[in-house]
Amino acid sequence: MSKQLAPAYVRAIAPYQAGKPISEVAREFGLDEAAIVKLASNENPLGMPESAKLAMQQAVAELGRYPDANGFELKAAISAKYDVPQSWVTLGNGSNDILEIAAHAFVQAGQSVVYAQYGFLVYALATQAVGARAIEVPARDFGHDLDAMAAAIDADTRLVYLANPNNPTGTFVTAAQLEAFLAKVPADVVVVLDEAYNEYLAAEHQYESTAWVRKYPNLVVSRTMSKAYGLAGLRVGFAIAQPEVTDLMNRIRQPFNVNSLAQAAAIAALNDQAFLARSADVNRAGYAQLTAAFDALGLRFVPSFGNFVLVQVGEDDGAGARVNLALLKQGIIVRPVANYGLPQWLRVSIGLPEENAAFIGALKTVLA
Ligand SMILES: *Cc1c(COP(=O)(O)O)cnc(C)c1O
Repeated sequence: MSKQLAPAYVRAIAPYQAGKPISEVAREFGLDEAAIVKLASNENPLGMPESAKLAMQQAVAELGRYPDANGFELKAAISAKYDVPQSWVTLGNGSNDILEIAAHAFVQAGQSVVYAQYGFLVYALATQAVGARAIEVPARDFGHDLDAMAAAIDADTRLVYLANPNNPTGTFVTAAQLEAFLAKVPADVVVVLDEAYNEYLAAEHQYESTAWVRKYPNLVVSRTMSKAYGLAGLRVGFAIAQPEVTDLMNRIRQPFNVNSLAQAAAIAALNDQAFLARSADVNRAGYAQLTAAFDALGLRFVPSFGNFVLVQVGEDDGAGARVNLALLKQGIIVRPVANYGLPQWLRVSIGLPEENAAFIGALKTVLA
């Protein structure tokens, strides 16, 4: 056999498929960009907070310099908000970066990583990127089967990824279930609890994951500024974990992984309670609007705790792709999820009332 440029595990990676950008759909389908509705990447339909925009404008003057490699002020803001020492915080270029840093820090080729069927695709990518073996645990009712996940942990398992709420299914496991799971995981296996959608949880579902970080030295809680905080384009995420684990992750982290504008914007957004509350309100109303329409159309959907809904648009395995294409032609971008093993389903991000209405109108036409 001839020499290969990359190891087999790298060649086996199927690149991440992001939501189609508006400009690309406009070009491909000959549409006006302004008329396109994008509900494909779980972005905040309110856009970025004004407070973050102002903070960035002020930070522009210093762009000739490198960012603060340790993100002192941003870590201080996170530390104050979550009541943890700054030495417990790792900054990421989006929380994707955190997920990858964890794989590189804790797993070597040949060892294994546990995650769930329908778990966020980046878990599989990060696992493959380090040449590790994936242990994908079958889902239960589209969500994490935590008992099965605990049982699946092998002698060579170094890491468990789990998202709560999960993307793309929107499922949620309760605080009690999670805590029971954490108690079962061996102390030398790191658990990354990915809480990208935490800010959307209703008050009765909220729980204190940072309290678990105090109790479990192997727990990494991952958060993002991309969803409820409206900063997806800036790429900011962070992890909270005890110092030993944090120190190891920081050895892998690129020194300037979060740029100066992003740091400034994140500090402002973290403290913008009004924006967060408005985002949750818009999401709650949009969820009611979308699910009422699905009910009226007789479409099955998975009850969601995030800012998106997984909806079944047909009974055959071509349904997702077919309906997706028909929606694109009408200028509606949603997310097909065949790559998650869900070819009959689409994932729709919750938008503004008029965006949801445009999607519902187009869906009715397509399904008629
Ligand atoms: C969107 C998302 C993320 C992170 O996105 P970043 O923009 O990289 O912070 C992480 N996990 C899940 C489950 C997500 O859906």
